[in-house]
Amino acid sequence: MNYTEIMVRYGELSTKGKNRKDFISRLNGNVTKVLNGIDGLSIRPHRDRMHIQLNGADYEEVMTRLKKVFGIQTFSPSVKVSKNFEDVKEVALEMMKEVYKEGMSFKVNTKRSDHEYELDTNEINLQLGDYIYTNIPGISVEMRKPDIKLLVEVRQDGIYLSNQTIKGAGGLPVGTAGKAELMLSGGIDSPVAGYLAMKRGVEIEMVHFYSPPYTSENALKKAKELTGKLAAFSGPIKFIAVPFTEIQETIKSELPEGYLMTVQRRFMMRLTDLIREKNDGLAIFNGEAVGQVASQTLESMVAINDVTNTPILRPVSNMDKTEIIKIAEDIDTFNLSVQPYEDCCTVFAPPSPKTRPNLQKARDFEAKLDVDGLISRSLSGIVETTIMPGETFLDEKEEEFSELL
Ligand code: ATP
Ligand code: MG
Repeated sequence: MNYTEIMVRYGELSTKGKNRKDFISRLNGNVTKVLNGIDGLSIRPHRDRMHIQLNGADYEEVMTRLKKVFGIQTFSPSVKVSKNFEDVKEVALEMMKEVYKEGMSFKVNTKRSDHEYELDTNEINLQLGDYIYTNIPGISVEMRKPDIKLLVEVRQDGIYLSNQTIKGAGGLPVGTAGKAELMLSGGIDSPVAGYLAMKRGVEIEMVHFYSPPYTSENALKKAKELTGKLAAFSGPIKFIAVPFTEIQETIKSELPEGYLMTVQRRFMMRLTDLIREKNDGLAIFNGEAVGQVASQTLESMVAINDVTNTPILRPVSNMDKTEIIKIAEDIDTFNLSVQPYEDCCTVFAPPSPKTRPNLQKARDFEAKLDVDGLISRSLSGIVETTIMPGETFLDEKEEEFSELL
């Protein structure tokens, strides 16, 4: 079918007034970003809908990318036809034949914004319905729950036809809820947490801790590649690589083993919070799930959260691992997350961390260290990059190799 435009329906339209304007203008910006590089498109945001005119561009590519844009409820590929009703009939029939499968039912649903048009909505419904019914043997008419709904819109500049409604990503346009930092490891959970944050309209920046030479170049590349996967839902994402080697070495040599992990996490949280403050972020997201591992008991969260008053949001906190994995598969991060390049936490994980650390002890042990010096040296070694949607960093050969292992 020679589609001429994609009609986009907004999600969560309860938003009114200024919020609605903000919603639409963000969505317009995000759609523009995500469709960047496809020639010929013109994007027209209106109050109730957005029209993306294809001008010859590949509609399948456009739809694939649109599926990842938050704030879109549904969309429909449409064809603009002249107002000559004979043309409308032919195109409608062709369109119906394309999606019709044996035994399916249909109905025609017409809307008119051009009230001068020669036929009214009833006449259009009846005449088109008749034409399709006569020319597709076996098709039946069903008013309540048709398999195929042919939408006809009579606008000033032409008549628009569509018969498919594709589900969008839902949620709110990224950016409408402000900005926050995501603590991104190379694991399964934090990319899912990032996806869920973006789905609620939060623009995220990645904070990733790495510890060369204990962690490999590939561990860093993996975190960047995960960012590329998430950027497909938001447009380019800032990636902040934070050196963590000195802090981990110091903690390991100075503190009792039971508190290595708690104190490490307190440092991570402090550093993330300082970065957040500098970048005007409003909150911190991470991939912690209650009870999943030793560092994720409520006692641990108390001992770690102690270093800041900033809201720490944990979108996967009450999900089961299987539920998290299901989302990771849907957003295509799972296969990458399970690649065996270990991040700094795994490398420095003590064999038996305290599952119920004591807050006061954590503070006391930590006070033995030069906290400010360690923090400021780490901050001065930060490397920031911007990662593009779908950008890859790992060598493909290495990926294949590790799949064989
Ligand atoms: P994930 O699957 O996200 O790695 P996890 O179940 O392995 O989570 P932990 O290793 O305890 O859990 O990490 C808990 C959270 O701490 C992570 O979800 C992430 O938000 C943050 N985190 C852990 N390691 C790093 C890191 N190297 N850089 C940034 N954040 C990290
Ligand atoms: Mg992890």
